Amino acid sequence: MKEKILVSACLLGTPCRYDGKSKPCSQVAALKDRFDFIPVCPEVMGGLSTPRLPCEIQNGLVIRKDGQDLTSFYQQGARAALKLAKDNGCKLAILKEKSPSCGTHCRYDGTFSGTLINGRGLTAELLAKNGIRTLSENETEHI
Ligand code: SF4
Repeated sequence: MKEKILVSACLLGTPCRYDGKSKPCSQVAALKDRFDFIPVCPEVMGGLSTPRLPCEIQNGLVIRKDGQDLTSFYQQGARAALKLAKDNGCKLAILKEKSPSCGTHCRYDGTFSGTLINGRGLTAELLAKNGIRTLSENETEHI
């Protein structure tokens, strides 16, 4: 039986991104013979619709581009992703870099200017705090 790993659904071709598109990743797809993928989209699981206005993290809060605070949706999505990982015995998650949910090493700085900073998204943070190894789609060679 193959090990189950959590994977950002947009990396597997699900059109769940804020812009209604996906971000399929050939490096992730190449792992399908070694692992069973458990797709997860924390933002959809948190109750957000697709497409949606983009959000960025500002001072620890997740703020939509029109100024609305959506932190609670992102927190709910992070908790749902953690439960999914635990229910499936996942010890590893491959997450979409730069996202305010899934970003593993970097995310946008909250100014909606396309500026990246070091930091995690809410889901990546919660998974890591609970002992689940988190990698971005750019680090599959480390598996
Ligand atoms: Fe992809 Fe994660 Fe954003 Fe969902 S929340 S669209 S899985 S990066």
